[in-house]
Amino acid sequence: MDRATIETLVRNAIVKRLGGGNGGAPAPTVVVNSSARHMHISQEDLETLFGPGYKLNVHKMLYQDGQFAAKETVTLIGPRKRMIPNLRILGPTRKQSQIELAFTDAVSLGIPDIPTRMSGELDGTPGAYIMGPKGILELKQGVIRAMRHVHMSPSDAAFYGLKNHDLCRLKITAPSCTTIFDEVAVRIDPSFKLEVHIDTDEANACDLDHATKVEILKA
Ligand SMILES: [Zn+2]
Repeated sequence: MDRATIETLVRNAIVKRLGGGNGGAPAPTVVVNSSARHMHISQEDLETLFGPGYKLNVHKMLYQDGQFAAKETVTLIGPRKRMIPNLRILGPTRKQSQIELAFTDAVSLGIPDIPTRMSGELDGTPGAYIMGPKGILELKQGVIRAMRHVHMSPSDAAFYGLKNHDLCRLKITAPSCTTIFDEVAVRIDPSFKLEVHIDTDEANACDLDHATKVEILKA
């Protein structure tokens, strides 16, 4: 009955790169994870939906330190009253709420012109209504298709010769077909583990589940 329990939020493909192009330095392990549609939420909006003083509960820890899929889910209501139930919340809470959809989700919800944005860059993005167990929230803006991106530490960035906000490419080798994604945004922070985030449409397009090799390439 509970679709959320059978929905796989994150699918892993961990493939070790052999060799390396940086004077023989060992290549970092590249992890590619696909993020299913989800919501990031502010504490204020969380309390509107779940009640005063409410705190998120951990369902599953994610690959980046401190990030987790919460037990809590909401219902997203788009234009023309089309709905997406069991939309998972990711924690911890943030300064502003944001909903990340795959393009297919957005089309089915009635937002075919959903903008592709980096996380947190929400000016001019569409809003939505969100229904929780204790209330309804009118989100004025914040529905986006997340731009594909890679998290990396400064030392990993040095290995690849990349700077913060650079764009790189991602090559996914799979038996069914090999795909190269262009315009993968580079995000560098000392707290980041090397991990590429793509959405479910992108993961399906490149058959990530059956990938035999993943490579980060300079643009
Ligand atoms: Zn990410």
